[in-house]
Amino acid sequence: MPFKFSPSSLSLLKECPRCFWLHFVKGVKRPSTPFPSLPAGMDRILKAHFDSFRDKGELPPELQQLNGEVRLFDDAELLAVWRNNLKGVQWTDDNGNLFRGAVDNILQKGKKLIVLDYKTRGYPVKEDTAAHYNDQLDIYNLLLRENGYETEDYGYLMFYYPKEVEADGDVAFNTELVKMKISVKNAESIFKKALEVLNAPMPPEPSQECGFCEWCDSIKSL
Ligand code: SF4
Repeated sequence: MPFKFSPSSLSLLKECPRCFWLHFVKGVKRPSTPFPSLPAGMDRILKAHFDSFRDKGELPPELQQLNGEVRLFDDAELLAVWRNNLKGVQWTDDNGNLFRGAVDNILQKGKKLIVLDYKTRGYPVKEDTAAHYNDQLDIYNLLLRENGYETEDYGYLMFYYPKEVEADGDVAFNTELVKMKISVKNAESIFKKALEVLNAPMPPEPSQECGFCEWCDSIKSL
């Protein structure tokens, strides 16, 4: 049976292969929890902000350090598809498994594309913060390459975090641009592992770092 994957569903594979198996094979999804809406709101206004600079053929102030080196991807229609959570950049393998991911933005350097993702957080970036997003960027790059586009072997994360409340009540944000090395081999091995887990006859063991399976077993015996 072919499957449909996104970077967020594949991140479940990393968290716990058993939950991933239950989600795709048995249709048992984790209960949803309240999700802060600030990152989605920031994403929306940042896209509009970047697009206004794209339409003028310029880079926004937070990308000035890349001035003369890159430009914003200028095919607005195609970018709208790639940004759409229900479409995104898609690739189907020989067995009909669909992999897709919705990007935030794309930079262009000559013929090559560079993925740019926005991240909103409450605090300054720590040493290990950016590494959490390696898989996501690797997957986007593999999908673009499978669609026939050349991509650079690096991408960017643009972090936004609160700086201060100004005298007029507006909240100012700091920005930090982090350059990330890309490994499409890593993305390929994530796809391979996902299919191995789902095609196995038995579910994998529960994650050692999550206590919920054990907790469920213990309340069943009450
Ligand atoms: S250990 Fe946690 S994450 Fe894994 S299957 Fe059980 S509840 Fe899901």
